[in-house]
Amino acid sequence: MFYKILMITVGLFLGAITVPSWGGEKDNWVIIHAGTLLADARLETRSKQSIIVKNDSIFDIRAGYISATDLPGAGDVEIINLKDKFVMAGMIDSHTHVTGEIEPHEREKAVTTSDSEYALAGSVYARRVLNAGFTTVRNVGAPRESIFALRNSIRKGQILGPRILAAGWAISPLGGHGDENGFRPDVFGTPHSGICNGADDCRRAVRDQIKYGADVIKYVATGGVLSKIATGTGQQFTDAEQVAIVQSAHAMGRKVAAHAHGKGGIEAALRAGVDSIEHGSYLDKGTIKLFRKHGAYLVPTLLAGATVVDMAVNQPGFFTPEVAAKAILVGPVMAKALYFAYKNGVKIAFGTDSGVSAHGINGRELVLMVQAGMAERDVIISATVNAADLLGLPDRIGTLDAGKSADIIAASGDPLKDISTLLSPDFVMVRGVVAVDK
Ligand SMILES: [Zn+2]
Repeated sequence: MFYKILMITVGLFLGAITVPSWGGEKDNWVIIHAGTLLADARLETRSKQSIIVKNDSIFDIRAGYISATDLPGAGDVEIINLKDKFVMAGMIDSHTHVTGEIEPHEREKAVTTSDSEYALAGSVYARRVLNAGFTTVRNVGAPRESIFALRNSIRKGQILGPRILAAGWAISPLGGHGDENGFRPDVFGTPHSGICNGADDCRRAVRDQIKYGADVIKYVATGGVLSKIATGTGQQFTDAEQVAIVQSAHAMGRKVAAHAHGKGGIEAALRAGVDSIEHGSYLDKGTIKLFRKHGAYLVPTLLAGATVVDMAVNQPGFFTPEVAAKAILVGPVMAKALYFAYKNGVKIAFGTDSGVSAHGINGRELVLMVQAGMAERDVIISATVNAADLLGLPDRIGTLDAGKSADIIAASGDPLKDISTLLSPDFVMVRGVVAVDK
């Protein structure tokens, strides 16, 4: 009896939400009329183009404004008018923490917030990031149950958000930047599964993240600005530990991002073979050589630097004294490091560290990168083509082309001349679903 009622209930429920058709799902066709189209940030713009979207992907791009009659057999076709807009691929943020935002009482939060709360908060933050024009993010460190749940729900279409590549827990040495430090052991006694000591244990930590769903591995090569412990920003993992982390991740087909501020730590990570250096604050001439030799990306996260300096200066008491001191020291160095790396031919991939900054203002990083000395076009390349390459998804995202994901944004004005036009896109589509249409 119980099952009968259950089946009827399920039947009614499904009936209410699904298309009443037994002949398979109907295809969803959309034609976007793009006034100016930057299909690939490395190439020139084209005017008056039609992007044909079938379900979650781009079916074709044709010159001129075509109509529904040009798609025989498509049935109902929605036309979206972006004739007065600048249309381009959805942007990619290679460094986010979408399950949280820093706030006062951080320490208390660490012992009182459940993974479910982080996941639910993440669903709100992720939507803000999407609305800001970022259709893919690489989330490099979060309570892992929360971020995997969020990623999976978005992937299934249960909630609308950017595509997420998730690292799970950041791999960190005990007492290091990715650990929760200073609590009484009877309050916070068991380190999370990303904490490791010694090469063997670090292989275990990497494999543990992958076993439960990590798309990418993030580890902390050096100390960090916001770790609540006065351990500086120098190298923390040994060379041998870093080699073990990178090799075990690569052996299982996962790319590796290394958080690194100090020169020694950046260089150890590059020698170990990481795919990207996050922050890279104290890089120099020798570091640049290693970047180029290994082909690694720099993910500069200037917004994080600008945010923590602002908080340390303008909100006394927000950070502990040791964190405030580190913030004021490291923040301004990051923009100079980016310019030096850029001028010397290091590949740059866009990343904000949002979670340090508020989610949804990710576009401000674009402005900071231009202010640091990058050309607007190169900044857009970093947030599309380059980030797609770093994430290992160049066949799916980063440019607009037949067969690629329908991740499309539009702005008023020309971001190749004024990057701030991308701060608040007028139109955002992710995998064929419209998230913003102003
Ligand atoms: Zn980060």
